[in-house]
Amino acid sequence: LDLKNEDLKKLADLGQGNGGSVVKVEHIPTGTIMAKKIVLIDAKSSVRKQILRELQIMHECHSEYIISCFGSFLAEPNICICMEFMDKGSFDGIYRKIGAIDINVVCLVAHSVLEGLTYLYDVHRIIHRDIKPSNILLNSEGSIKLCDFGVSGELINSIANTFVGTSIYMSPERIQGAEYSVKSDVWSLGITLVELATGSFPFCDVEDDDDNLSDLDDQYGTTPTHRDSFAFNKKKEKRLSKRRSEGADLQGEMSLSIIELMHQIVREPAPRIGPQFCEEAQEFVDACLAKDPDERHSPKTLLV
Ligand code: ADP
Ligand code: MG
Repeated sequence: LDLKNEDLKKLADLGQGNGGSVVKVEHIPTGTIMAKKIVLIDAKSSVRKQILRELQIMHECHSEYIISCFGSFLAEPNICICMEFMDKGSFDGIYRKIGAIDINVVCLVAHSVLEGLTYLYDVHRIIHRDIKPSNILLNSEGSIKLCDFGVSGELINSIANTFVGTSIYMSPERIQGAEYSVKSDVWSLGITLVELATGSFPFCDVEDDDDNLSDLDDQYGTTPTHRDSFAFNKKKEKRLSKRRSEGADLQGEMSLSIIELMHQIVREPAPRIGPQFCEEAQEFVDACLAKDPDERHSPKTLLV
């Protein structure tokens, strides 16, 4: 498809991440419904062209476990990536709406993600780099697919946000500066599975000096909701806006709390799911969350 911004009619907002925003659009000439991701980038035009070239690889990804891509184009100062629209959204939105996800469905998520990772790696030598509930999408046919994989190194380097690439799903070895490997994706999958199965992000918020906790509880229910990533972010947002009004250096503030969480990931034992789940599920999560990447299973052995 030859995509142009003027042919795309916005239908709805789908969400916002730290790298940009996603809107539901209709491609008027063909009537195709798409999800358009808009990424604000900070790069020279030669780099922008390089990014577009790198994004071409997304067209070559043909797997039922990977979101398909209609095309990408520049709309200064943004890059727009048009992809398959998934009408049930991402798993973070789903569990926030309905609570913990049934373990049988969590198994299907694990299966689809592992198939997707294996396809990306075996066929294209791509490591995903950003496995998390918001990058795992569902449609009403029951398909579960991965999006937002690390196809363009230049794009990652150019996104106009300091916190791109810093994720609370990062593996201990990654936090300590090791190169990305497919095993880092397996760690992030493990954290994701715990989060979906239990309905909350497994690492506890290290900042307990929060005076706004009680009104957060009003908004999101009582404990342990305040420990999930959503509330973690909400809490942080609240604190940041308070600090912003006091004229604080927010970049420093935000990175400090992320660094505290990262310390915890490196120091503490890996999260587990409890005995309310069957032994196989517990073992599977443990195999994903071995802290030493050499002991952690690969997507292929996990599939078996
Ligand atoms: P993040 O993944 O960090 O939440 P993104 O900007 O990648 O940030 O995406 C924002 C939201 O848009 C996601 O949480 C997801 O719910 C929604 N979204 C992304 N891609 C699609 C898609 N192809 N179809 C439907 N919803 C999508
Ligand atoms: Mg995303």
